[in-house]
Amino acid sequence: PEVAALVASRVVDVPDFPKPGIVFKDLMPLFSDGPVFRRMIDGIVAYHGADSFDVVAGVEARGFVIAAAMAYATGKGVVPVRKAGKLPRRTHSASYELEYGEATLEVHEDAFVAGQRVLVVDDVLATGGTAGAALELVERAGGIVSGFTVLMELSFLEGRRRLAPRTVHALLTV
Ligand code: IMP
Repeated sequence: PEVAALVASRVVDVPDFPKPGIVFKDLMPLFSDGPVFRRMIDGIVAYHGADSFDVVAGVEARGFVIAAAMAYATGKGVVPVRKAGKLPRRTHSASYELEYGEATLEVHEDAFVAGQRVLVVDDVLATGGTAGAALELVERAGGIVSGFTVLMELSFLEGRRRLAPRTVHALLTV
């Protein structure tokens, strides 16, 4: 099947998580199946092309898994965009509203070489608050965001609009 169909067939809808009224898309089954995980990573890498970025930035925590695999597949490095209080050295910090609640992300001030092209990776794009904060952090740390990539985009939340004119690639858009 197409990668999008594969993703669609493996996503599990979890009603009322983490709050009543929210239907959480659980993408973990895509990570635990070896051939599916490889297809997914290969599909993302093929779409962007290894020459379009210098380093991959993964958003904690599921973004780490995807980012590390992409970095390994392309021989690039991986930089973690972490939740508040986890990074040991001086950080830039950005707070934002989530679909549910509020959060703060951080990146080391020296995480990027000035002008490095950074592909930002996460599992799901919902409202775009998380990706927007990651964008701000990468740029404050001297990187240039070459684009965003996610496994799944919840398009009705219009997260992509907050990231314009940067482009977002999603394996599956619902
Ligand atoms: P946003 O900031 O509203 O775009 O939410 C995206 C962030 O929240 C990402 O880091 C996702 O991992 C997480 N997230 C939001 N909704 C879901 C979901 O339905 N399934 C898995 N992760 C989600």
